[in-house]
Amino acid sequence: MTRSSPGPPPERARSRELIRRARRLIPGGVNSPVRAFSAVGGDPVFIARGRGSRLFDVDGNEYIDFLGSWGPLILGHAAEPVVAAIQKAAREGTTFGAPTPHEVDLAGLVTEAFPSIEKVRMVSSGTEATLSALRLARAATGRDLIVKLEGCYHGHVDALLVKAGSGLLALGIPASPGVPETVARQTLTAAFNDAAALERLFAEHGPRIACLIMEPVAGNMGVVPPAPGYLQAAREITRRHGSLLILDEVMTGFRLAPGGAQQLYGVRADITTLGKVIGGGLPVGAYGGPADLMQRIAPEGPVYQAGTLSGNPLAMAAGAETLRQLRAPGFYERLERMGATLETGLAQAARDAGAAATINRVGSMMTLFFTASPVTDLASATRCDTRRYAAFFHRMLDRGVSLPPSQFEAFFLSAAHTDDDLQATIRAAGEALAEA
Ligand code: PMP
Repeated sequence: MTRSSPGPPPERARSRELIRRARRLIPGGVNSPVRAFSAVGGDPVFIARGRGSRLFDVDGNEYIDFLGSWGPLILGHAAEPVVAAIQKAAREGTTFGAPTPHEVDLAGLVTEAFPSIEKVRMVSSGTEATLSALRLARAATGRDLIVKLEGCYHGHVDALLVKAGSGLLALGIPASPGVPETVARQTLTAAFNDAAALERLFAEHGPRIACLIMEPVAGNMGVVPPAPGYLQAAREITRRHGSLLILDEVMTGFRLAPGGAQQLYGVRADITTLGKVIGGGLPVGAYGGPADLMQRIAPEGPVYQAGTLSGNPLAMAAGAETLRQLRAPGFYERLERMGATLETGLAQAARDAGAAATINRVGSMMTLFFTASPVTDLASATRCDTRRYAAFFHRMLDRGVSLPPSQFEAFFLSAAHTDDDLQATIRAAGEALAEA
């Protein structure tokens, strides 16, 4: 249950002790930067377990969770059918380095949902998916340059750590040391939602551009939906210049609709990258497209890409069971209704508190931006009051609501959230905002 103000802040002594130890053993004490709370201050909370919509930390505090492990947990924590599928697969052996039926099962579910995907290759993370997609696009076009959009994040691929979102935005670093200048120079960038900028970039460099890679709905500068016609423009411009369009649906695939943003907005990618939901909480990524493109990949073709644990049976079983659960009648409609309830409630809470806020939402992904102006691209996102977000984040955490620890990330709803969870969250937000 959420706690009401002005109760004493929850005790987190064991989390504090663990992060002290972790910092001696692991860079920053974490295995992925945004978990360290650098953008909001304070110490991260160590999690003991999750169940449904709830997280329980190592000190026994309970939270309504809207982080959802950064997107995969569309069914909530420890969803019974997924846990059962993992247990069954584990008893049969954890990895073979040889094909198993689970891979064919998941590949079938993915290609059924995405008309743009005839063949799909499984990898173990979103990063692996996007780096492999870039290699394929360069091989297929014989061109070197790539275009990415400012504020989009596609994992920690060298070529894609240029004006990237997510952890780089949270830490305020424009690009990473260690990426060779020669690699960074191959990446051109344009603002999100600016079709004219894409036109100009392609007019100048078109014959050398292998691909445009983009999040169709940006989630890594906070949620920023595509303006009407923008995805269609990206599709048309890339096609006209003989470049490939890579839609990175690591976050949006099976979250916004079974066929991802492509289904929602009626656009078709040349290569689609997937991750998060398709692994059901285990490490999975994937990239896919038409058969004639995918046949360039080894061993059918010469484009090399491989992985010891690719298509891991536990991960495939978890993903396949998750995708089956999404077929329940009304699944996405219910997520949409819950998203609308939360959006409306948070907007009202912000108005009541006189807080300047803009909420962007697409289905079960949303961001509450602390700015009165519309957020349509990286420039408008970074005009937000990030200190106000940090204060809000901690006040919510202290009231038993776990939000992403950065202004530039998405809240994720899951099927495990209840109406009571949403109402408790809206009440907590009302109090937290009023304190500012
Ligand atoms: N693409 C997108 C759109 C993402 O949101 C992310 C991760 N948040 C990635 C790629 C990278 O995925 P991973 O963290 O699994 O490498």
